[in-house]
Amino acid sequence: MKPQILLVEDEPGLVLTLSDLLAGEGYAVQSATDGRGGLARATRESFDAILLDVMLPGMNGFEVCRELRKRGNRAGILMLTARGQLPDRVAGLRLGADDYLTKPFEVPELLARLEALLRRVGKPERARVNEFRFGQIHVNFQTEEVYKDECRIALPGKELELLRYLVEHRDSVVSREELLEGVWRYQRGVSSRTVDVHIAWLRQKLEENPQAPRYIHTVRGVGYRFAP
Ligand code: CA
Repeated sequence: MKPQILLVEDEPGLVLTLSDLLAGEGYAVQSATDGRGGLARATRESFDAILLDVMLPGMNGFEVCRELRKRGNRAGILMLTARGQLPDRVAGLRLGADDYLTKPFEVPELLARLEALLRRVGKPERARVNEFRFGQIHVNFQTEEVYKDECRIALPGKELELLRYLVEHRDSVVSREELLEGVWRYQRGVSSRTVDVHIAWLRQKLEENPQAPRYIHTVRGVGYRFAP
């Protein structure tokens, strides 16, 4: 079954473009052009994800988001904010949005974030992986032992957890937000910079050439993809 997407956006041009684009990517797309319409539709029908503009006539995106969560709506919410409105992004996440995207955005980034969002919501967790081999690496997550070419290497706590997350989501794009949630559980003082630093450490230890990684790829503007 196609993932059901609700687009709440008041710019007719953008509604048209995004609807076509998402339909072309295999999503079933409905739209609403103001906050109240979006809220009504999201309450009446069931969606996997909601693309929610912040600046909307009548009721803004934040109010819609807060109201949806208050009503127990569990759809993934991706807020669309104007460039540089940082306090807005934070406000959106506090009100229960899952992610945000700054306008104007690149289509690949929208698609990658939407894909990551849909993976996080609704679908059951991936099966736990206890042991994994790729290249010269052999990891046993249960005994917490990691070997490279039969030599034991040390991966302290979060590095091992991060590797496990990447392994369990291999071949998919994982955003920094997803890693912050899945590995660090939004621990205080942890930022997306922390994610990048840990990725660099993993590459240093696991990749033959950390400057040209073969397994842990950067997905520009979004996050990473582990391709064993
Ligand atoms: Ca708008």
